[in-house]
Amino acid sequence: MNNSLAFIHDTLPQKVMFGYGQSSTFLKQEVELRGSKKVMVIAGERELEIAQKVTSDIEVALWYDEVVMHVPIEVAERARQSAADNGIDLLVCVGGGSTTGLAKAIAMTTALPIVAVPTTYAGSEATNVWGLTEAQRKTTGVDLKVLPQTVIYDSELTMSLPVDMSVASGLNGLAHCIDSLWGPHADPINAALAAEGIRALNEGLPKIVADPHSIDGRDQALYGAYLAAVSFASAGSGLHHKICHTLGGTFNLPHAQTHATVLPYVLAFNAGDAPEAERRAAAAFGSDTALEGLQRLREAVDAPQRLSDYGFSADGIEEAVEVTLEKVPANNPRPVTKENLSKLLEAALNGEDPAVLSASHTLI
Ligand code: NAD
Repeated sequence: MNNSLAFIHDTLPQKVMFGYGQSSTFLKQEVELRGSKKVMVIAGERELEIAQKVTSDIEVALWYDEVVMHVPIEVAERARQSAADNGIDLLVCVGGGSTTGLAKAIAMTTALPIVAVPTTYAGSEATNVWGLTEAQRKTTGVDLKVLPQTVIYDSELTMSLPVDMSVASGLNGLAHCIDSLWGPHADPINAALAAEGIRALNEGLPKIVADPHSIDGRDQALYGAYLAAVSFASAGSGLHHKICHTLGGTFNLPHAQTHATVLPYVLAFNAGDAPEAERRAAAAFGSDTALEGLQRLREAVDAPQRLSDYGFSADGIEEAVEVTLEKVPANNPRPVTKENLSKLLEAALNGEDPAVLSASHTLI
């Protein structure tokens, strides 16, 4: 076998505007460029003040604040109806992944353009992935209509994100990077983006913990979160995301904290069977092994430790395993079985040392 490169990589069409304190100017430029007359601004209650600042230079036709995590279908349908009743021609979402998710749900059926102004590190704004929850099952899908046409990043808007939420959300971004290294469509381009995303988040998050108003820390985290999402959108959901979608959709666990908690377990589980991913991630962390780098960061930022802190219990393991197994990507580096997935979830539930999962395969 030779070492030549061969891959197919799709780059998503999106404009990115990035600048501290510039969101209202950027948004005005976008609205003028598009000639939008009826702008619907979507922002949850806690995001309202930020949204007012971002939209201070434009005219708003409709304010909409019914934002619910994981986008229940009935919430999506009410928002679609409001957009139609008001003749909306542009959706502007200001907030975290839940807010972006609602804008995507509207765009999915109306094809309205979205300008996204993210205020967390969830990264939904840079993906063409939508998510809806119906009858306790979270469904996700891919559709170019839901990809925001423009994203405005302004780290000033993230200063109010509490430190614990910043850490959890930043580790959600990191999970995008790591899962991208073995996702179903992993390729050298998304691996390069993921590696730079790991570097930026690893640098930014401790600065935020040391000083929540650090512009450099917030900028690095936001930049890393964007790269993370671009690599994830291209590589597709790997094992980590399949587990977390189950925990969020079926057990209603909080998104960012769940990702932050599960990540070291999936990394420990897969790393031994994914040498190239392991090498890239370790180099990006500047550590001997990827797990060592991740655990060093997690310790520095006081990361979430166990799923039992977020409403999961041993009673849920069997169902979580069953639902997840249906979705595990065929190319996962290590074969996933009922037994080893149960062990992974049990370890994450109780906050055990993730190294138990990287032990010899014959043990689990
Ligand atoms: P979130 O959007 O639910 O926000 C968490 C909380 O933080 C909310 O109460 C919100 O109002 C508040 N908040 C947001 N920004 C703030 C700020 N700057 N200051 C103070 N408070 C702020 O949480 P999230 O983790 O950003 O997003 C989670 C959702 O996004 C999940 O439903 C997840 O499935 C989805 N998601 C989707 C994709 C995708 O590609 N489709 C990617 C990542 C996440």
